[in-house]
Amino acid sequence: MKDCLFCRILRREIPAKFIYQDDEVSAFADMNPQAPTHCLVIPNLHLSTLNEIDDGNRALAGKLISVAVQIAKDKGLAEKGYRLVANCQAAAGQSVFHVHFHLMGGRSFDWPPG
Ligand code: 5GP
Ligand code: ZN
Repeated sequence: MKDCLFCRILRREIPAKFIYQDDEVSAFADMNPQAPTHCLVIPNLHLSTLNEIDDGNRALAGKLISVAVQIAKDKGLAEKGYRLVANCQAAAGQSVFHVHFHLMGGRSFDWPPG
């Protein structure tokens, strides 16, 4: 999508530190990290919110999670733990309207989140 920030990152119009990319899924470092490891795992296809996940793209949705888990393992987070979270809509904290999972690790996390 033309003016979407994450689509622009995918088109390399805005620089980002890529951690993973294949033809369906990409991951890059969050520019404002909230943990020692904080990356964003996104579909290459523009989907605005999690509300666009359905039976038609469930394989892609599953792949986002499996890529995030693999990155967590590669970064040595699997044993101690990590947080994988997606905010859906502004009231939940979503500020970029291209589906993304936050993968955060390297510290402890409180529950419930604010
Ligand atoms: P949300 O608030 O939508 O759940 O998460 C959006 C995330 O995108 C935030 O954690 C924010 O720091 C990150 N972000 C916003 N703009 C950019 C950018 O231009 N580059 C990168 N790498 N991350 C960004
Ligand atoms: Zn987009």
